[in-house]
Amino acid sequence: MKRQQIERQLIGLSFRMLRKLIKVMVLIIGGGIWLSKRNEARARAIAKQEAQSRMNEFLSIASHELKTPLTSIKGNIQLIGRRLKNNDSNQSEETRRILIEAKDLLDRTDQQITRLTRIVNGLLETARINGNTMDLLFELTELNNLLREIEQNGHQLPDTRSMQVHIPEDKALLVMADATRIKHVIIHFLSNAHKFSPLEKPIEIFLSEDEHMAKIAVKDAGPGIAPEEQKRIWERFYRVPGIAILNGSEVGLGLGLHISHSIIEQHHGKIGLQSKPGEGSTFWFTLPLADNNLSA
Ligand code: ADP
Repeated sequence: MKRQQIERQLIGLSFRMLRKLIKVMVLIIGGGIWLSKRNEARARAIAKQEAQSRMNEFLSIASHELKTPLTSIKGNIQLIGRRLKNNDSNQSEETRRILIEAKDLLDRTDQQITRLTRIVNGLLETARINGNTMDLLFELTELNNLLREIEQNGHQLPDTRSMQVHIPEDKALLVMADATRIKHVIIHFLSNAHKFSPLEKPIEIFLSEDEHMAKIAVKDAGPGIAPEEQKRIWERFYRVPGIAILNGSEVGLGLGLHISHSIIEQHHGKIGLQSKPGEGSTFWFTLPLADNNLSA
């Protein structure tokens, strides 16, 4: 009887030990799988980071290397253009005709070089954003004046495009900003509005004060952007599929809004878009007013 009891106890003990052993093994195997999954995820993240940093390095080197010859080509084109202008009255009709043709070709080459320079500058700016080397030159800037300047001679749009600029007359909106870069953001909004909306519909620009911030908005009567695309347009190299270019032939790289986003973020402002398909788009950004900055 006693022996049977001991045997039963021993069997019970063995079962309990076996159960514990199985539990430990399950834990070890489970832990192993979890660890290997974690390592895989970590390896993937490191590989992605490395690929990203190699791409940034490539962008930076390529854009720097392209910029120097472009600047020199542009300079030479302008120089030749100036020489061609100095027409000699003794020239034959034939020579004059050839010179006019050459001048025309030169103008077109100059336009293409300007376009190429814009693309290279975009790549250079993206490389700076990703390498955290974008230096901003902050100065007290009156946005009313900045918009007037853009309206009068700085928008880079053809004369045929009509524009309505709404600037408050009774209040100067002052911000601490890198004026050149803020101008680039506005001009980029304008150039997109021009590119994607019908020429006969005016583009509107608004300057206003909104909750202690200065707000600039550019409104167009273009195709509008669907909500799911609105989140993605700020990504580097993203272009909304199916949006037709109505004016000009400049297909962009999908960098302008990414750069604009980063510029406004570095000014502690906000940037956004209000749009519905078929109802146009309003791209806007805000900047802290200078008196807020000073009191802070
Ligand atoms: P890019 O520098 O090539 O012009 P952006 O970053 O400015 O590119 O814009 C990204 C994409 O967002 C454009 O390719 C276009 O599809 C869409 N987009 C930008 N602005 C507008 C607009 N005003 N109306 C409709 N679509 C727009």
